[in-house]
Amino acid sequence: PSPDDPPYLRGLNTPQRQAVLTTDGPVLVLAGAGTGKTAALTARLAHLLYTRKAWPSEILAVTFTNKAAREMRERVGRLVGDAVEGMPWLGTFHSIGAKMVRRHAELIGLQSNFTILDTDDQLRLMKQLIAAADLDEKRWPARQLGGLIDGWKNKGMTPKDLDAGEAELFANGRGQELYAAYQARLLALNACDFGDLLLHALVLLRTHREVLEQYQQRFRYMLVDEYQDTNSVQYLWLRLLAQARKNLCCVGDDDQSIYSWRGAQVENILKFERDFPGAAVIKLEQNYRSTGHILAAASGVIAHNGGRLGKTLWTEANEGEKVRVVGVWDGPEEARRVGEQIEGEMRPRNGEGGLSLNDVAILVRAQHQTREFEDRFIAIGMPYRIVGGFRFYERAEIRDALAYLRVVSQPGDDLAFERIVNVPKRGLGDKAVQKVHQLARAEGIPLTTAAARILDTDELTPQARRSLGNLVGDMARWRAMAGELPHAELARQLLDESGYTAMLQAEKSVEAAGRLENLTELVRAMEEYESLGAFLEHVSLVMDNENRQQDAQVTIMTIHAAKGLEYDTVFLVGWEEGIFPSQRALDEGGLASLEEERRLAYVAITRARRKATILHAANRRIYGQWTSSLPSRFVEELPPEHIEAETTMSGGESLWRANWSENADPFSDVARGSGRGPGWQRAASTGTFVREPTRIIEARASAVSLGNKGRSDVSVGLRVF
Ligand code: ATP
Ligand code: MG
Repeated sequence: PSPDDPPYLRGLNTPQRQAVLTTDGPVLVLAGAGTGKTAALTARLAHLLYTRKAWPSEILAVTFTNKAAREMRERVGRLVGDAVEGMPWLGTFHSIGAKMVRRHAELIGLQSNFTILDTDDQLRLMKQLIAAADLDEKRWPARQLGGLIDGWKNKGMTPKDLDAGEAELFANGRGQELYAAYQARLLALNACDFGDLLLHALVLLRTHREVLEQYQQRFRYMLVDEYQDTNSVQYLWLRLLAQARKNLCCVGDDDQSIYSWRGAQVENILKFERDFPGAAVIKLEQNYRSTGHILAAASGVIAHNGGRLGKTLWTEANEGEKVRVVGVWDGPEEARRVGEQIEGEMRPRNGEGGLSLNDVAILVRAQHQTREFEDRFIAIGMPYRIVGGFRFYERAEIRDALAYLRVVSQPGDDLAFERIVNVPKRGLGDKAVQKVHQLARAEGIPLTTAAARILDTDELTPQARRSLGNLVGDMARWRAMAGELPHAELARQLLDESGYTAMLQAEKSVEAAGRLENLTELVRAMEEYESLGAFLEHVSLVMDNENRQQDAQVTIMTIHAAKGLEYDTVFLVGWEEGIFPSQRALDEGGLASLEEERRLAYVAITRARRKATILHAANRRIYGQWTSSLPSRFVEELPPEHIEAETTMSGGESLWRANWSENADPFSDVARGSGRGPGWQRAASTGTFVREPTRIIEARASAVSLGNKGRSDVSVGLRVF
């Protein structure tokens, strides 16, 4: 380092400088989390511009998200000032692909103003094609075809490229035919789907030599962040472009490959050295993000994976605080604890200002887990944002479910009726709905009443009349049920009988599974309220609470969405078997899916700069039943010397582990008395007394309230009783 260094080199360590200054020839930067890969890539970009090795338009730079692209653009702007007059080719693979395809649309058979279809349009199209092929959509759902086609596109396969095995995956070998029909239909509509943005970009380069050569000349330098999560089509496209000049610099971390479910192939890292012989491979080992304990905890977990490229990580930062592992009683307590701890962190202390909410993130494994935190934060007035998704009560499936509940509880709710009248599809077209509207307006009655009355007229086609008749009949029945069933049970039945659940189940996609989980979570949330009315009121308050102009907010997001980001204080919640690792990963059972979950754990822990807290609850409510859960195996894999375990239940961490022997007498007569009562048995493996879960909760909760003066714990008892 010298004082004459340009601004972008200041502070970089030796291998980072090497990554910046080795401008020519292939470069692979392979390094663990927080070692400054993205920082080095940004400096490299600045360097290329600053030294005029290339014009902004001659550099291709790929980031994993649009947000990351914006940040990189800003940072480079700050480093080299006006030298960056626009960077047309800085963005995600998809955005760059779209740009390229637009420029040469006619070579693909499109016009340059083609539209990009969203998932709904895409599915509608596939449904038509499936029907046109005389297939039963129930047996061969459009979503499934959509998933397959997406997978093929991620592999860079056009319909022609499918082998028999691939085509066999849909409708007894008709996959290829449907894929081809779909592509033809898209062209006819002058449209693309997301996968096409990548596939067309690849086909374009493959089939048009002059275009390929033009871009090979144009892109003097190519830079790729988060390289471990590129999929085949992206890799093939990059390789073609880089073949002439070979100035390709990729940075990544095999331990952070977490998108294999979207076709990402970590093997691309290995292929790099084979495809670009003589590549400079640079390793960064100093971590600048996290304190010692956090780093050691993350390294300890990922060490349990096999087949790693392996790397050393160290930090000059102090040890910092140990990673806190907190066992709590149940989900609500988990949310409460997190809220309390954040409030504590925000208080100024020892003359130092408290933490800003912007420095705090809560990372969940699955979207549905956000609900408990959202409800809690709204209750205590803590502003939050959900990154990479919608707030729980804004999600489409939740709004649909709520609309069903509203139709039942408030027959005059026209908006709710409109929302559900044809969801799931029951063959009620716009025309039929319009007629209902007309009648409602003419007579000044609610839509649901009009729907019933119109059945007595001959306004509707027989088919529409039958469907509407069924719906009207269902609604009447549901209203009658509403008086009798507990409201959560009513919700469950509504979702089943309306065909809503079945609609999602038929989709067989990861997305649909997530939606089903959200619905289960909704029902679970309802159980916490006394009546349907009270619950619906809560929801409208929540919806009203959306103050988006807040400046400081806690961030809640999935681990997937947190990739590449960092926060001072991070809460990692729901570290329980079946949640994280996810049930899906456990059911698939393969080592590969478990290892991917472990990489997620590694990504999660390494987001924290100064403070990481891992929480696991001993009990979760699932389908109205309390079930005990085991702490995640990843908790056990944390090296003990770097963690500080704490449990809010003096008796033990989990129901199954609590050792309530008669002599230990953790609290009082309550625990011992229940231990002797009917229905108890001793689990042979642990010597633990176990019983039917709901009963245990009662016993346990009262024990807590007797034995512990902490106010929050007492409220557990009150709530459960
Ligand atoms: P991830 O694997 O999570 O994407 P990364 O390797 O891309 O991490 P960066 O995000 O680039 O790491 O850097 C992590 C943190 O370290 C950032 O706050 C960055 O500003 C800081 N940093 C990077 N390099 C240095 C350096 N040489 N000196 C001081 N701080 C640095
Ligand atoms: Mg990064």
